[in-house]
Amino acid sequence: MRYYSTRNKDIYVSASQAILKGISDDGGLFVPEAFPQLPPLEELMGKNYRELAFGILKLYLDDYSEEEILQAVEGAYDHKFEDKDIVPIRKAGGAFFLELFKGPTLAFKDMALTVLPYLLKTAAIKQGESKEVVILTATSGDTGKAALEGFKDVPGTRVVVFYPENGVSKIQRLQMVTQRGANTYVAAVKGNFDDAQNGVKEIFNDKVFNEELKEKGFVLSSANSINIGRLLPQIVYYVYGYLSLAEQGEIKLGEKINIAVPTGNFGNILAAYYAMRMGLPVNKLLCASNDNRVLTDFFESNIYDRRRKLILTSSPSMDILISSNLERYLFHMSGGNAVEIKDKMRLLQDRGHYQWTKDSLGPVVPGMAGEQHISSAIEKLWSGDGYLMDPHTAIAYSVWERYLKDSGDNVPALIASTASPFKFSGKVLASIGEDEYKDEFEGMKRLGDLMGIPVPERMSELEKLPIRHSKVCEKSRMRDAVKSFLEGSKTNG
Ligand SMILES: *Cc1c(COP(=O)(O)O)cnc(C)c1O
Repeated sequence: MRYYSTRNKDIYVSASQAILKGISDDGGLFVPEAFPQLPPLEELMGKNYRELAFGILKLYLDDYSEEEILQAVEGAYDHKFEDKDIVPIRKAGGAFFLELFKGPTLAFKDMALTVLPYLLKTAAIKQGESKEVVILTATSGDTGKAALEGFKDVPGTRVVVFYPENGVSKIQRLQMVTQRGANTYVAAVKGNFDDAQNGVKEIFNDKVFNEELKEKGFVLSSANSINIGRLLPQIVYYVYGYLSLAEQGEIKLGEKINIAVPTGNFGNILAAYYAMRMGLPVNKLLCASNDNRVLTDFFESNIYDRRRKLILTSSPSMDILISSNLERYLFHMSGGNAVEIKDKMRLLQDRGHYQWTKDSLGPVVPGMAGEQHISSAIEKLWSGDGYLMDPHTAIAYSVWERYLKDSGDNVPALIASTASPFKFSGKVLASIGEDEYKDEFEGMKRLGDLMGIPVPERMSELEKLPIRHSKVCEKSRMRDAVKSFLEGSKTNG
């Protein structure tokens, strides 16, 4: 299978090359030339997560051997996940919650970032890459930690994470700055997530800098959802969720469902779209935004306009104005018109806005939820069903509820549940009227008491772990930060 650049169809690579490079040299994102079809759903019933992941990844990674894919999924989806099903489904508030947060960092990013290191290591070997692979990552909070956990102490790799200094929650920050592993580097950027993401994209596109790194024995790759190796593993859980609903007798095989996804960089919802193109029976994809409603406005008006102030919300992982993977979606919507995509992306870069000319924007339905809606959704499910969701998930639920009311489209709904409530306990507790606690850690204990479960060790230990990364850098100095880390000794001080 070929993977084309969204900006130039003369540029194409194999699966392993796409994963190793992360982003195309022309700044485009790699997309598969076609969507392989799922086998008949009956044949997939009863498969466990690893088996399903193997079957789906095999369709895309056609220059990997079956052995290599098997090793990757077995290494990734094991006891690191707190639930033996890997992705459990819970029913509450009239919808089904696809709990994607049972992995090591308590957010859905683990679903892909536990398997990506295997895919990338294998890609490096296949491509005869002898240099050290440097995973360069910008994070809105959750990708950073998941990448650090996934790649820590993986031989032949280093992982560099930039997070916005004031743009992540206290717990997210602690998760990153206490990171162990001799090959890890974390720095705060003076700016917001878009600044961090732009800085990283600039480093990828800086040919001189990349040459310089090569001479020193390093090659860059990405763990952000610009890397197709992030997206492909995310297709699996939508298929798995659908099959679980069928196995539980909640739907009949072939019946359509709606999927609601709390969206920032558009990666997670794009994976749902890929699942749909592969034959999963889906009616609508609800693209749920927070107060930074750049995507809501785009899908309502056909105008993408990043010229607005970023609002810091209780769902920091969605505080984004430049939603990278929309580029892939529009590529598919335009029937693969790379010339048009290149033009729009240049306008976005130069002028901060563009108008999309196609009337149809596919199965995506936009919606947004502000702080008050988030709180009421959390409160409603807690008081009604004793179910607690994190603020990101609450946005998707709230958007689905509104959509159901407005459209009457009552097919079963799957809500992508992207983070554990423990990770954002402040907003969760405030929403249910609990405010008597002195800090995050006491708050988490309170939450655990309410839910009748202990605080996950990976959360409570953050209180005691030593800070290992305290660097702060100007957004114009990210290159220098990367360089000095790579030139320094292997152990990061
Ligand atoms: C990253 C993240 C999102 C947004 O996902 P995208 O793929 O960037 O759209 C939503 N919720 C949580 C908890 C996240 O970590």
